[in-house]
Formats: sequence, structure tokens, C-alpha cells
Amino acid sequence: MEYLPDFDLHRPETAEEAVRLKAASANSRYLAGGTDMIVNVRRGIEQPAALIDLTAVGELTDIAAENGGLRIGAGVRLRDLAEHTDIRGRFAAVAQAAASVAGPTHRAYGTIGGNLCLDTRCLFYNQSQWWRESNDFCLKNLGEVCHVAPGGKHMLVDGGSIPKIRLDDGPPINYCKPAVDPLFETAAKVYGSATLSLVLTGMGHDGAEGGRAVAAAGGTVLAQDEATSVVWGMPGATARAGVCSAVLPLDRIPGQLANLLKGF
Ligand SMILES: Cc1cc2nc3c(=O)[nH]c(=O)nc-3n(C[C@H](O)[C@H](O)[C@H](O)COP(=O)(O)OP(=O)(O)OC[C@H]3O[C@@H](n4cnc5c(N)ncnc54)[C@H](O)[C@@H]3O)c2cc1C
Ligand code: SF4
Repeated sequence: MEYLPDFDLHRPETAEEAVRLKAASANSRYLAGGTDMIVNVRRGIEQPAALIDLTAVGELTDIAAENGGLRIGAGVRLRDLAEHTDIRGRFAAVAQAAASVAGPTHRAYGTIGGNLCLDTRCLFYNQSQWWRESNDFCLKNLGEVCHVAPGGKHMLVDGGSIPKIRLDDGPPINYCKPAVDPLFETAAKVYGSATLSLVLTGMGHDGAEGGRAVAAAGGTVLAQDEATSVVWGMPGATARAGVCSAVLPLDRIPGQLANLLKGF
């Protein structure tokens, strides 16, 4: 582990003050339980000028009944969420999900806000500076290659008790390597109706056959519309295959994804 670098630490007591502090410093970050953020600061992944500790903001820790549901504050700890009587009784899946995160110590500090807002936890990224440097970093920061999905190889999903990504050096498909079809097809085999595929602007027709496989497995297929696509090749072929549950302009796709993911 590296030493913590210097940064300013603020401890607001209201959400309003927290937002004001955040707006005042361009390179500031919120800090809740710190289970992800502090590790990332020590690893040099995050280099904030200021951290705004939210643990004294009481209004973020409420769990309150609202419109027939429950409003869960961003500062509620995962352990408290998992043990909350109302949530266990009425929203058992939420309690189970919280109870399955990491180990007891992490759940005692980690919050729901941090869980939703944390950065990627990629095996090739959540590493020390020297580890990432010795592996040429990665596309997300300072590097030129994604180690999970490098160019020039197909990416497939293998089933089993823990699904895995497998890189495949087979011939090009649809003149592409990597190609989208084999990724969608193998994902549909493993995840079935939980598969969500999205085809954005691109040349050719790669993705359409994969979309058929996703739809046949009961999954959801989305494509970008013609008006907002630079080239309506891939999304157009997917739309023409008649398998899309929606063909949307680019600016409506994030909202649609968020709505679909609410069900999981
Ligand atoms: C060993 C280990 C195992 C893990 N296993 C799992 C797992 O099995 N499943 C899983 O889902 N997660 C897992 N995690 C991730 C874990 O859920 C998160 O580390 C934790 O929930 C983060 O919460 P935190 O309060 O500590 O966030 P912090 O580390 O304090 O912050 C995380 C991010 O969220 C932002 N943030 C925090 N609160 C707010 C807010 N109120 N508003 C806006 N931004 C905010 C911070 O700025 C930061 O970017 C694991 C983590 C570790 C270290
Ligand atoms: S670019 Fe690739 S290797 Fe880097 S964090 Fe993202 S998935 Fe991981």
C-alpha cells in the first residue's frame, strides 16, 4: 500500500453544505464509508485536492416510508439496509443484495450511495500504481488497451457457476474481429432473459444475428435510431431484424437503460 497523499478534508453537516463545498473545488470528491474511495486514493487512481466526508450529514441516513414505498438515504450503510425490519419484510431482494456485498467489515462502513456511485472494480484497474504501470495501464486511464477486451479478438461469455469472459482468436465474423454477434449470442446463452443488448451507430450488420439470439432467449434488444446515428448500419440491421423492444434517439438511451435496470 502507498501512503495517503495530501488533500483537504471537509466534514459538512448538511447536504446543502456538502453540495456547496463540492461546487467550490473542481477537483473534490465525496467520501462516504471510504471502502472504495480511500483505497483508490492510496493507489493513485483518484488524486483529489479535497475530500468531502458525508458521514456527518444526518439527512442522508434516513430510511422513511414514502408514497407506498421506502426512501433510502444515500448514507445508509449496507449492514443497516440488510438488517432493516421493513426492508427485510417488504423488499427482501434489496436486503439480500445488501447482505451479499463483500464481507461484514465492508458492509459496516460501505453505504448504498457509495455502492451505486463507485468506480469500476475491474481486476486490471483496481490495482496499485506500480502494478498498473508494469501492465501498461489500460484504456480507462493512461493506457491504450483494454485488457478485458483487447482489439483483435472476439469476446465470448462462458457459463458455469461464475460466468467468465473468454477471448477467442477465431476467424473474423461479419468481417469483424472482435464481432458483436458472438458476444451477444454467448451472453444470451448464459444470461437468458436477463440479457440486455444495445447496438449503437456503426457500419455493417454485425449485432443483428446476436440480437435475434438475445430476443429468442427472452432478453431485451435496443438499437439507436437512424436520425441520431452517424451510420445506421448495425443498428439499422438490428431494427430491421424485428427484434428490438425499442429503437431510440441517442439522448433517450441512458434513461431507457436506467428504467430497464430498475427491475433487476
Ligand atoms: C473487498 C471488497 C469487496 C467488494 N465486494 C462487492 C460486492 O460483492 N458487490 C458489490 O456490489 N460491491 C462490492 N464492493 C464495493 C462496495 O460495495 C463499495 O466499496 C461500497 O459500497 C462503497 O461505499 P462507500 O460508502 O465506502 O463509498 P466510498 O468509497 O466512500 O465512495 C465510493 C464512490 O461513491 C461516491 N459517493 C459516495 N457517496 C456518495 C453520495 N452520497 N453522493 C454521490 N457520490 C457518492 C464517492 O465519491 C466515490 O466516488 C466491494 C468492495 C471491496 C473493497
Ligand atoms: S478499460 Fe478494460 S481493463 Fe481498463 S478498467 Fe475498463 S474494462 Fe478494465
